[in-house]
Amino acid sequence: MLPEFCEPGLMCTLKLLTHQTIMNGIRYYPIAGLAFLVLWKAGAPYFQRFRIQLRPLKNERVWYEIRYSFVTLLVFVAIGTYSITMGMRGETALYLDIFKHGPAYLIFSFLLLIIWHETWFYWMHRMVHFPRLFRLIHLVHHKSTHPTPFAAYSFHPYEAVLEAGYLFLFVQFVPVHPIVVLTQAFYAMLMNIYFHSGHEFAPSGWTRGRLSRWFNTSTHHNMHHSHVNCNYSLYFNFWDRVCGTNHPDYEQYFESIKARSRPTAPGVNPAVRTFATINTIETSNAKVNLSPERETAG
Ligand SMILES: [Zn+2]
Ligand SMILES: [Zn+2]
Repeated sequence: MLPEFCEPGLMCTLKLLTHQTIMNGIRYYPIAGLAFLVLWKAGAPYFQRFRIQLRPLKNERVWYEIRYSFVTLLVFVAIGTYSITMGMRGETALYLDIFKHGPAYLIFSFLLLIIWHETWFYWMHRMVHFPRLFRLIHLVHHKSTHPTPFAAYSFHPYEAVLEAGYLFLFVQFVPVHPIVVLTQAFYAMLMNIYFHSGHEFAPSGWTRGRLSRWFNTSTHHNMHHSHVNCNYSLYFNFWDRVCGTNHPDYEQYFESIKARSRPTAPGVNPAVRTFATINTIETSNAKVNLSPERETAG
């Protein structure tokens, strides 16, 4: 839903704030909440075999993610309102006539925005892993070593500003229609919720496929939370490959999760699987360390 245009002023700002609050709130909490209920509560007996880590969740950690997500939403609402106000004043590169540059440009600008987001995210993410910045900006997000869908927006306010920065900068310089911005922001949110869902649904062999290996999995980002200094990228496994920052056991770990997710895995009933099986795998892979080591790659 696009915002109504109005004459810049106090009433207009209030209208935009309301619009942004509804849009951001309606989008995030019900979708992340539904994913959480289906995967971790009502559907847990079925979806347990798709879990990446099988240690139990801590309720206080889930509430922590929900609270920090609220802070992030406030930051996104503020930045969104400010950006739209700038757009209404003609101070950005946003254009409103959807036919102005043709339908091919709409698709092109969407793809460009995705690529720009990936690049911005990777390098911003590497930056906030420098030890001094990590504690100040990024530690809140990494408190979730075993993330749930609510970890998708669980950021310190400073990080929330950086997370929104890619979009704010893009609309300053690149002609783009608001529908493209809204669609991409929605897509980014959905992918973020999936990458923090704690479950893996990609098929076995995904990380080795000629094409599919370039697309990140939920396991990839989950490993970032459990291992910290690896797997920094977002949608694509591009920068991590170029810079050598993929975890060396990523493919092997992914396949071990796929092996135990098979309903026909020998001697295992997925609905009643004991945690012992899982813990064996996790203990051999996870090295949780919230003090970031000095970076050695890239
Ligand atoms: Zn990180
Ligand atoms: Zn994360």
